[in-house]
Parts: sequence; structure tokens; C-alpha cells
Amino acid sequence: MIAPEELGSLLSGEPAYRVDQFREWLYEHPVLAADDMTNLPTEVRERIADSLWPFRVEHEQVADGGRTVKWLFRCPDGAAVEAVLMGYPRRTTLCISSQAGCAMGCTFCATGQFGFDRHLTGGEIFAQVAYANAHLHRHPLPRSPERVTNVVFMGMGEPLANYPNLRESIRRMVEVAGISGRSITVSTVGVVPGIERLTEEPWPVTLAVSLHAVDDHLREQLVPLNRRYPIDDLIAAARRYREKKGRRVSLEWTLMDGLNDTAHQARALAAIAKEIDAHVNVIPMNPTPLAPQRRPPDERIKAFVDEVARHGATVTLRDTRGVEIDAACGQLRVRAESAPAG
Ligand code: SAH
Ligand code: SF4
Repeated sequence: MIAPEELGSLLSGEPAYRVDQFREWLYEHPVLAADDMTNLPTEVRERIADSLWPFRVEHEQVADGGRTVKWLFRCPDGAAVEAVLMGYPRRTTLCISSQAGCAMGCTFCATGQFGFDRHLTGGEIFAQVAYANAHLHRHPLPRSPERVTNVVFMGMGEPLANYPNLRESIRRMVEVAGISGRSITVSTVGVVPGIERLTEEPWPVTLAVSLHAVDDHLREQLVPLNRRYPIDDLIAAARRYREKKGRRVSLEWTLMDGLNDTAHQARALAAIAKEIDAHVNVIPMNPTPLAPQRRPPDERIKAFVDEVARHGATVTLRDTRGVEIDAACGQLRVRAESAPAG
């Protein structure tokens, strides 16, 4: 996606008003293809056609009665980027990727099992938002805002392991796409120095910490990075974020059958959440082809959530939007790449 500062060089030799026309097409009435920029001469449209997006759309899937759209984008070097758009009555949320693949190797995550390909650039991260806005302009989701109002970094990759590019993408979301910092959620598996850097940034972004366990022994089995940044250090960093920013942190808890779904763990999780004034989000495990972990039965999920609430923490059971199109972290990629060739 072209940054506003790059517009001039792309249109060099053209009159100044072309830059304004182009800017309007990009950021105010976004279009999916240069050909749709109807007041630009054909020659100019052809010149910019390949620079408009840094990737092509390999798959587009629609689910939930048109309220969920999932894209698999492909960069010229083969890197895969996935994003999921979800419409709600008062917000339109885009879940985006910060890396192609992920190096963290969490044992329950499809992206982690595929390993790391490369960091996405700030432009590639931001382009997911710009593309979704262009799509929404043409095809709004039923009864939802016609622009991306909320962004969550919960697609592929660990955003805090790609800090400068994460930072640049957030800057553009706020300054170019007009998304409020409060409506951007950075989800991390626990890169403590990254949380510390984010604490110093000017934007009031929401921090989500993917905790999944209350003791280091279990967490190490699920999240190898826990060996480097154990739970106490992670909670301390989340607490500082809360204090400095005045923003409530959320604790993500992917619920796995027989592993982290006991009443004892629910109580310990509630105690941590209360201690740092965090909100708990429980996400039932989405099975992946390679992961041994399973989703608990529904009554066990409900009992866990009730137990967290009974011990005084605020808790939400996250909806399973998009499950029918494998909208969970990294799963479309698995489907696409394991499909027979040809
Ligand atoms: N790397 C970051 C953000 C991307 S993962 C992180 O780990 O926080 C986004 C969320 O999806 C995380 O909370 C992660 O724990 C969750 N997740 C990963 N695999 C999952 C699965 N198979 N089922 C349910 N949630 C999963
Ligand atoms: Fe990476 Fe997050 Fe998946 Fe872990 S859960 S492998 S950090 S994307």
C-alpha cells in the first residue's frame, strides 16, 4: 500500500492536482483496482496498477450470512498474509497478520506449526486495513459500519517480535485511516521488551496478553517463549502498561480440554485478573490438524467461565465467528497449502 508521502514520486511528471485525486481514491473513496479511479487518465492508471496493493487476493471466503469475510493475500515473493473481517451492529472489526508465519512455535497454534516465513512490512500490515476499507466501500457488511472501526492483531504472527513495522502500521492506521488508537488491539504471546516499548508509545492501544496458563510448567509446554519471559515478568509488564496508559489489559485464554480448564486454574486466573484489573477473554480451542490439544465439551467451557466470574473477574466467552471458514489463527493457510496441487 502506498504511503501518503510516496504519492508524489509515483505520479512524478503529473500535475499537482493528480496527487489530490489519487489521494482521494486511496483514502476517502477507496477502490479495489486502479482501473476504478475513473477521473485518472488510462495511462496513469496503468502506471500505478501494480503499485496499488503489495499482494494479490488468493482466496476470499464469506461466512456467517455475509457478516464474516476472510482473505488470503499472497505477496510477490510467495509470503502469505491473512485477514478476517467481522461485522457487528456498531463496529466492523478486522483481524490482521503482522508476520507471514510465526517463529514462536506455540504447540496449539496452526501458524506456529508452520514456522516463520518473514516479517511483514509496515505497508503490508497497513494494506490489509486499506484493502478491507476498499472492499467495504463496494460491499458493506449487513447492518455494520462501512469502514474498519476496530483492528485486532490476532491473525498470523507475533506483532511485538516485529516492532518497527508494527509501529509504522499503527501510525498509518491512526493518521491515515482515522482509526482510534483505543480501537486497535495488539495481542502478544508475551514479548516483555515489546510490551515495555509499547508502554512508551503515544497511542492508547489495547494490549491483549495471551496467557493460557497460571503456572510456568504448563505454560512452557504451550508457549515455548515462556522459558525466556516467565509468567511473573509478563504480568509485571502488563501491570505497568495498565498503570501508565490507564487502559485495561485483556488476558486471552485459549481453553484446552484437560489442560487449562480446571476450577483451580479458573480461580488462579481470576486472582491475576483482579490483581492487575484485567479483563479475561476465553477462546475455546479451535482444533488444528497437527495440534494434540482439543476443545473442551460445552458444559466444561461454561463451568470455567462461570468459575472465573464467580471469583470476581470480568470475563467474556469469545464468539466462534468464522469457525466454518477456519477463521482461527493461521488455519486458512493450512487448508490452502495442504490442498492438492493443480
Ligand atoms: N501471536 C499473538 C497474536 C496472534 S495469535 C498471540 O499469540 O497473542 C491470536 C490469538 O489466537 C492468541 O490469543 C492465540 O492464543 C489464539 N490461538 C492460536 N491458536 C489457536 C487455536 N488453535 N484455537 C484458539 N485460539 C488460538
Ligand atoms: Fe505465534 Fe501467536 Fe500462534 Fe503463538 S499463538 S505461534 S505467538 S501466532
